[in-house]
Amino acid sequence: MVIRNQYVVLPILMILFWLPAVGAETLKTRYATLTYTNQDHLEGFNDNLRVGKQLYYMVKKRKPRTLEDEVKNKIDVIVEEVETVLEFFPDNLRFEIQLFETTAEVKQAYQKLFRREGVYVAFFNPRNNTVYIGVEDTSLKIFAHELAHVVIENYYKVPTPPKIHEFLARMATSQIVR
Ligand SMILES: [Zn+2]
Repeated sequence: MVIRNQYVVLPILMILFWLPAVGAETLKTRYATLTYTNQDHLEGFNDNLRVGKQLYYMVKKRKPRTLEDEVKNKIDVIVEEVETVLEFFPDNLRFEIQLFETTAEVKQAYQKLFRREGVYVAFFNPRNNTVYIGVEDTSLKIFAHELAHVVIENYYKVPTPPKIHEFLARMATSQIVR
């Protein structure tokens, strides 16, 4: 009887550990590691991230052949644009992006992390150097703004006061999205 139970328990455990791995795909760019659930979300993210003529030219110059390539190029081009506008070039910049499908999931993630109601459609958590964003509310304006927070946080060696952080991020975004 005992032996039979062990045979039952083991496959169940294997399924439990295997399941979360299936749901999480990752894409590594020069600067970021993007975690997403499936190809549809990546496609939606790419569609909503309309970068404008000038930046798109830079995306195409890097000769993307797949959807993954195009997303990678867009992320890196926007990071470099933010760095250029701010004139902040952090050494060995690396950060994470967690892509959800809906804004409700972004708000849930915020609530879990900070134990207060999430009101933002996207946010950056300096503690784990991660941007949280949903496909639903992805736009160049929102994404570039969060990337500006990433660049500012990783450039300064001392914590930047929140008001200055926000001021600089808004200034950078306004230069990129006109
Ligand atoms: Zn902000």
